[in-house]
Amino acid sequence: MTNLPEPPPRSLELRIDREALAANWRALDRLSGKARAGAAAKANCYGLGVDTCVPVLRDAGARNFFVAHWSEVVGVVGHVPPEQVSVLHGANSADEVAYAQAVGAVPVVNSLHQARRWTEGGGGPCDLMVDTGINRLGVPVSALSEPAIAALDVRVLLTHLSSADEDDPANARQLAAFREARGRVRHREASIANSAGIALGEGYHADLTRPGLALYGGIPRGELSGTIRQVAFPRAAIIQTRDIGAGDAVGYNREFVAKAPMRVATVSLGYADGFLRARGGSHLVSEGRKLALLGKVSMDMVIADITAAPDLRAGEWLDVPFDLPEISAQSGLSQYELLTTIGTRFRR
Ligand SMILES: *Cc1c(COP(=O)(O)O)cnc(C)c1O
Repeated sequence: MTNLPEPPPRSLELRIDREALAANWRALDRLSGKARAGAAAKANCYGLGVDTCVPVLRDAGARNFFVAHWSEVVGVVGHVPPEQVSVLHGANSADEVAYAQAVGAVPVVNSLHQARRWTEGGGGPCDLMVDTGINRLGVPVSALSEPAIAALDVRVLLTHLSSADEDDPANARQLAAFREARGRVRHREASIANSAGIALGEGYHADLTRPGLALYGGIPRGELSGTIRQVAFPRAAIIQTRDIGAGDAVGYNREFVAKAPMRVATVSLGYADGFLRARGGSHLVSEGRKLALLGKVSMDMVIADITAAPDLRAGEWLDVPFDLPEISAQSGLSQYELLTTIGTRFRR
């Protein structure tokens, strides 16, 4: 099995605009005011690839990287020192604590249980998440005086906003609760804002911000549009073209039926590539020409109307629109979902 030839080139490509990614980090760092921006690198850098994105973010100046799982540490520490990697889910088991100690990545302590585990396992610098109203992960403000918390060597004290992408009074309430938390536990630095939180202004910047979505081209609040650039540019190859007549149907369940003769292309792109059925009815693009999609998205294919571009042949590339706010509005999928479902069949 080891001496198989290299597979032929793929029929899906994902171009990452590294300059746009670096520019997005620099813009978010600048918008963070006196705070410095870190980078959320979880979920394979939101689907765009740790090995592509982390070196760019590091070279742009990022020094704090956030992953969710311990399994995600190894990919990031190939590019940055382990103490720059924080693990948001924290260490719940002795195995996770031992791994953190061995690798030198930093757990984000989220509960009294995790605090005790960390101290029992040898302790050392850690981050601490305090829950100020999202009720997801984190120690409640009321529990911060517990001895298990006092025993920690807290590097960064964090909280996370539930509604930073909205103008919701919950943001100010969380900020006030976090101010109280900061008075209750010794820490070197503080961190509140995700991408959207950065746009809420100076009060939310603290010492370190944690953008994810906006690094990768997502725009969670209007203030960021015009600043954040598209980073991911997918394209897909045509597998086959054909002419069909009036009354012919294409795709599963004969959802689209031609009213007149037309030419169609079957394209290598489907829901296994993150192109979910919610994107049916949209279009692909060839040299600026919009090609409407017909019928349902299949697992590995879509069918495009190329009547107006009859020159297109098998093997030629079509651009997949990926302006995240626009595609999100069109499909009803969140910008996060659009990024993180991209899948693994693209050549990057
Ligand atoms: C994912 C995550 C972020 C990044 O959020 P974006 O909305 O993608 O900018 C920041 N902080 C925490 C705790 C997270 O889980």
